[in-house]
Amino acid sequence: TTETEVELISKHEILPLYKPRAKFDHKGIFGHGLIVGGSYGKIGAVHLATKSVLSVGSGVATAYIPKCGYTALQASLPEAMVITDANEEHLTAIDFKIKPTAIGVGVGLGTEVNTIKAFEAFLKINKAPLVIDADALNIISKKKTLLKLLPEHSILTPHVKELEGLIGKWSDDFEKLKKTKAFSSKYKIIIVIKGANTITVYGNKLYVNTTGNPGMATAGSGDVLTGIITGLICQGYSEIEASLFGVYLHGRSADLALEEYGYQSLLASNIIDYIAEAYIDLF
Ligand code: AMP
Ligand code: MG
Repeated sequence: TTETEVELISKHEILPLYKPRAKFDHKGIFGHGLIVGGSYGKIGAVHLATKSVLSVGSGVATAYIPKCGYTALQASLPEAMVITDANEEHLTAIDFKIKPTAIGVGVGLGTEVNTIKAFEAFLKINKAPLVIDADALNIISKKKTLLKLLPEHSILTPHVKELEGLIGKWSDDFEKLKKTKAFSSKYKIIIVIKGANTITVYGNKLYVNTTGNPGMATAGSGDVLTGIITGLICQGYSEIEASLFGVYLHGRSADLALEEYGYQSLLASNIIDYIAEAYIDLF
């Protein structure tokens, strides 16, 4: 059947997905998350995403960035490993010897010609699950043939502007969802339409998130989501589980952070600090 199914996602739907830890678990079990992105002046985006990979529970995290960000990232995020591109200011190759469990790509990436080439070459050889955000979405929007290179169940996390680049304009919400469902089905990918009530689209299924608040309308908050979803895949959640759980946790963290920071002063890094509370709040 092609009938659309709509499900509201609240704690009741999320709790059964939760994977508890066992006494003898070690970091190797929880995966290795890789964040690929950054460019001169936008290394902070990679910091936020990589910190989120670790804060959501991934065992190990690496950031792949241009050289200019090396010292800042090593100093600001000692728990993460850093691999640098040969180039100073933007990525010119996405080429590494590690075997990440999942990869989040695009935050702070920029759209330099060499970066676009590097991204295409990477997609041709990559087999790891992908979370695709920000400038990686913008690159795909400019070059739609890249869509065929995405692994099945890749997760795309556009805000509405980025979604428009992917699927074109729409006249109302009904048409927006219709086009997104067709796009998801055609390429067998998951589309997370970010905004108030983020909607995760997976073929003919629509999942409407119930957490989050306008305090999240602040720089870097999407980068945090990219890291959260990547870090959940690392821990063995399927791509659709990681999308739903990740969007829920991200919003719930921001809701809990409101009491301390309020709508205006909430920063993306505060969302990360409250992931712990959001986990505790599940029980
Ligand atoms: P980005 O635009 O990539 O930084 O992503 C923004 C993030 O904040 C997404 O996860 C959105 O769902 C979330 N967000 C932005 N504005 C709101 C809002 N008014 N209510 C709830 N969540 C929001
Ligand atoms: Mg963004």
